[in-house]
Amino acid sequence: MTAQIIDGKQIAADMRAELKEEVAKLKEQGIVPGLGVILVGEDPASQSYVTAKERACENIGIYSNDNRLPAETSQEELMALVEKMNNDPKINGILVQLPLPKGINEAEVLLAIDPAKDVDGFHPMNVGKMMVGEKAFLPCTPHGIIQLLIRSGVTIEGAEVVIVGRSNIVGKPLANMLIQKKPNANATVTVCHTRTKDLPSHTKRADIVIAAAGRPNTVTADMVKEGVVVIDVGVNRIEDATKKKGYRLVGDVDFEAVKEKASFITPVPGGVGPMTITMLLYNTVESAKRAAGIEVA
Ligand code: NAP
Repeated sequence: MTAQIIDGKQIAADMRAELKEEVAKLKEQGIVPGLGVILVGEDPASQSYVTAKERACENIGIYSNDNRLPAETSQEELMALVEKMNNDPKINGILVQLPLPKGINEAEVLLAIDPAKDVDGFHPMNVGKMMVGEKAFLPCTPHGIIQLLIRSGVTIEGAEVVIVGRSNIVGKPLANMLIQKKPNANATVTVCHTRTKDLPSHTKRADIVIAAAGRPNTVTADMVKEGVVVIDVGVNRIEDATKKKGYRLVGDVDFEAVKEKASFITPVPGGVGPMTITMLLYNTVESAKRAAGIEVA
């Protein structure tokens, strides 16, 4: 079997086109969704993420309020900016780019964001609501993964899902979302990590394997069954002298070998990555609708 490649770029483009239409309709009613972005410091990866987010907002008509602050910014200055955005009706979503520089208490900053504007879905209030199945902002990467599965026609209901990785931004929230007693969930989920005794014994029986370990070749062909669905979240830099930058990006899955056994697989790049920003835009539009008293699904 050769897998069907799940084209994250295309699915993200489709979703962004839908959002663009929705934003245009909201604007006719005088509603302009707004995202406040805070970047502290000069980390190049964070800078390029933030630029991509701002460009994505512009492309679909979301107002973006961009704040790039020096690495020396104090906790108080940062908290004051968050508070200003909490009280600004033009801003429906607040994004604080992580990681924050050393010396800043990240948890305190995230806790200061109004949960009604927490479009990253990291505030404990939203994490708790998600866990008990209440309406909440869903964290962008896990939500994007679920959209990839749904829009590729993969059945999640009743599936054996094995997630490799238990971080607060991917593994844990994804496991929670997939076990909800709801449509497009109802899966049986196993979460693996570095203390898991026998990783292949788990991945081999999975209908869906989601790799979020941050380590190349964590999932190889001998670790999966024929017909498995594989979502590769990992983004790893591998030295490559043939590339202008001197490196290339690979995921956590041995893509070439696993695609010969899988029924569906995501590539890296071009799989999960484009979905993360798309779901941030989705949450910002949802927040604007909620603020205007429009019922959201
Ligand atoms: P993280 O915080 O470093 O967590 C990695 C998790 O994987 C940990 O739970 C770790 O276990 C587990 N793990 C690592 N090696 C393992 C192994 N050999 N066997 C089993 N478990 C293993 O990483 P993260 O933030 O979740 O990100 C994971 C990857 O996804 C990274 O490559 C990151 O760049 C990528 N990512 C991509 C996107 C996107 O939008 N495309 C978004 C977020 C993250 P322990 O808990 O025991 O240490």
